[in-house]
Amino acid sequence: KNGVVIVGAGHAGVQAAASLREDGYDWPVILVGDENELPYHKPPLSKTFIKDATAKPQPLRGEAFYTGSAIDYRPSIRIERIDAGRRSLDIAGGGALAFDHLILATGSRPRALPLPGAELFGVVSLRSLADARLIRDLSAHSEDVVILGGGFIGLEIAATLRAAGRTVTIVEAVDRLLGRAVAPVVASHVRQRLEATGVRIFTGTSIARLEGEDGHVTAAITSSGERLPAHMVVVGIGAVPNVELAQEAGLTIANGIRVDHQMRSSVPDILAIGDAASYRHWFTGGDVRLESVQNATDQARLAARTITGHADGYSAVPWFWSDIGDMKLQMVGLTSGGDSHVVLGDLPDNKFSIYHYAGDRLLGIESVNRPGDHMLGRKMLGAGFSPTPETVAEGPDGLKAALA
Ligand code: FAD
Repeated sequence: KNGVVIVGAGHAGVQAAASLREDGYDWPVILVGDENELPYHKPPLSKTFIKDATAKPQPLRGEAFYTGSAIDYRPSIRIERIDAGRRSLDIAGGGALAFDHLILATGSRPRALPLPGAELFGVVSLRSLADARLIRDLSAHSEDVVILGGGFIGLEIAATLRAAGRTVTIVEAVDRLLGRAVAPVVASHVRQRLEATGVRIFTGTSIARLEGEDGHVTAAITSSGERLPAHMVVVGIGAVPNVELAQEAGLTIANGIRVDHQMRSSVPDILAIGDAASYRHWFTGGDVRLESVQNATDQARLAARTITGHADGYSAVPWFWSDIGDMKLQMVGLTSGGDSHVVLGDLPDNKFSIYHYAGDRLLGIESVNRPGDHMLGRKMLGAGFSPTPETVAEGPDGLKAALA
């Protein structure tokens, strides 16, 4: 038996390897990743790592875990082709790997910036530990930082670098922050608080080009001609799934590697999980590709069960968090399609939750600094329980009583 090969040693890949062993899988498990690191947590990169010269990466699992669980972790290896018929992988630079099952956990990468000047030194994006080290080094010598994109990663980086004393300007093309990821009331709250710390924010503004001197970026020029000085420009305009391997192998792609409710791709014995996978979500009935640690790890657990023959359908409750300065945002459920909401708590206190409804069905909750609401929300949605807006208005005690 050749066992399972997992391509991509990020959040999804490492969990898949661990879950295979936990589920009693006895054949070889080979985990291949193209980074030269012990696999690490990504979320801290934008929140703490880049402002602290002494910060260390946080490994997902200690080194002993891989040897102790007989997981053959192979760093610095890039897979460049899948031969689905022969069940074999080509390694860049030569060599091949055979598999019985293949799990694609290739993640996503920052969307490229199609702008004049994008190639200048000092124009960066954040995905990997190597990127984070570069941003940390550059920011030590960068007074003015311009961040392109007002999504979660852009705002986290803005808050982190502002706290480290940089002059930070965010430029977002649409007229609000955080796209459609959160309710407008949450987005404007986040904006106000970031601005109160001195972050400059331009929405409805696009950048026409980046300017440089001696190959190093010096400014971002808006489409109306305003010049924003910049020693560093961080591009955070979204991510694209790493689907090329799968696409060339003939797997069905639909905004990600298309998988069924057991994480199987269109080719038997090839599964896909995490940021790279798209699927019909049980919760909304809509097609999604989610970029979250929860999605990556829960799909990994399910992929292992599919391979070991214990598969059930994917039914995990989606949740996500983001730390932006003094705001801990937590989201549970999927709130698109909501038509009404109830607010608990107080915006001026920087502690509130928004309960989103479609008709009388609770779709999800967005919380700022109310972790109790978030945890209770995970329990409620996990139990398929939809409290009425009146019960929500009674607060946590009423909700706990109704759930019991
Ligand atoms: P990844 O973790 O990206 O792992 C994919 C790996 O595959 C990478 O190492 C890649 O190099 C490798 N790879 C790709 N192609 C190949 C190949 N051909 N051969 C070999 N290796 C390959 N989520 C949250 O829920 N909360 C947060 O607060 C949060 N903060 C984040 C902050 C940052 C800065 C970033 C970048 C992400 C954050 N996320 C957060 C998102 C979360 O980290 C991702 O959803 C998660 O990492 C997805 O896991 P994955 O395994 O699918 O992809």
